[in-house]
Amino acid sequence: MDAYDVLVIGAGPGGSTAARFAARSGCRTVLIEKRAEIGVPIRCGEGIAKDWLQEIGIPPSPKFVQREVQGARVFAPDGTCLTVDAAMAGNEVGYTVDRGLFDRYLAAEAARAGAEIRIRTSAVGLLTEGGRIVGARCEHMGRTLDIRAHVVIGADGFESQVGRWAGLATHLKMRDIDACLEYTMVDVGGDPTYDDFYLGSCAPGGYAWVFWKGEDIANVGLGVNLSLVRERGDAKLYLDRFLAAHPALARGQVLQEIAGAVSVSLPLERTTTDGLMLVGDAARMIDPVTGGGILNACLAGKFAGEVAGEALLAADYSSTFLERYERRWRARIEEQLCRNYMIKERLLKMDDATISRIIRAIADVPLERVSAATIFERLRERHPDILAQFELA
Ligand SMILES: Cc1cc2nc3c(=O)[nH]c(=O)nc-3n(C[C@H](O)[C@H](O)[C@H](O)COP(=O)(O)OP(=O)(O)OC[C@H]3O[C@@H](n4cnc5c(N)ncnc54)[C@H](O)[C@@H]3O)c2cc1C
Repeated sequence: MDAYDVLVIGAGPGGSTAARFAARSGCRTVLIEKRAEIGVPIRCGEGIAKDWLQEIGIPPSPKFVQREVQGARVFAPDGTCLTVDAAMAGNEVGYTVDRGLFDRYLAAEAARAGAEIRIRTSAVGLLTEGGRIVGARCEHMGRTLDIRAHVVIGADGFESQVGRWAGLATHLKMRDIDACLEYTMVDVGGDPTYDDFYLGSCAPGGYAWVFWKGEDIANVGLGVNLSLVRERGDAKLYLDRFLAAHPALARGQVLQEIAGAVSVSLPLERTTTDGLMLVGDAARMIDPVTGGGILNACLAGKFAGEVAGEALLAADYSSTFLERYERRWRARIEEQLCRNYMIKERLLKMDDATISRIIRAIADVPLERVSAATIFERLRERHPDILAQFELA
């Protein structure tokens, strides 16, 4: 039996960040990853905002940033385009990363902080003692081994089992899941200085995206809400239809096809229990409007790693102590997740004409800074009827 202070399950952005901060706080930390290589296969559009990397202590680096864009263009179904530059968006848009390199960069930083990394090691269950979680049963190359730890951090992604094993309510409704499909395409035409988002029935309940990785290389993908399509496979029909409607993109060749799902739900009601914290997709921290989850996974990973260090100092691994993790991540990201969940719920019911009216109205109001709050404020002044659509006034 192997024993550590902290066991982190899953070496995605959330897990590697948690392992880095736990190791840095003095915890003997092990990070396990079921795959043979961290970061592959990639299941991501690879778009991240600019302004938060410093919050997790990672400087932007050519080691993982592939391209910097100036902002985003949001296209309504009627073709209206809302251009949002990076400054207006509060640097909420900005980089296309190579996700494989990014995930390995974060894992390497965890190792440099002192974490041990074990690849090809899957958690298959939790170890408990007196109702408290004290580690995980794992499998490595056909061999079963138990890893004991004072604190387990579950960072095992969208298909997380750790939360369910711990008895936390992790079930997702159909309307809280988007099925995604993406092609990495080369020799495509378009303006690579902006990332593009297409709303409306081209991607029911979600959106289509074009995220540029180079002058003529882009990730072209979309997410569709499972409550609005017949089956997950329909994402391909919608993506092929989207491409057919955009000849400059359609002329390109597909280098890679990526399928996956994102939660567009509220975050879990509880993300801690005795001896356990859940971070990132495992805790349903994906933004329900954008489908972006890297930032929140990393922020939560940082808080979880720091709290693990504090728990070690206090020799207290109870859910009462670990609630300080819960309080920290909620203070940082919960308000936005809840507001965007309400927006996503309204968008699910909107037809193309209404979405176009809203984008036209937003494009019509001068905004120094684009955020849900400023948009609602201006709409309240100029288009109260449209604001009523959101019932958020
Ligand atoms: C098609 C698609 C496009 C996306 N585009 C974007 C985007 O452009 N920008 C953005 O911010 N977000 C995007 N996302 C979401 C983003 O990928 C996730 O939010 C992010 O990866 C969450 O990080 P994580 O660390 O929580 O989980 P993950 O990155 O999923 O990492 C979980 C890790 O745990 C490992 N694991 C799972 N089970 C076990 C186990 N039992 N034992 C050991 N290891 C285990 C997995 O192999 C994996 O490495 C996209 C998602 C999809 C599907």
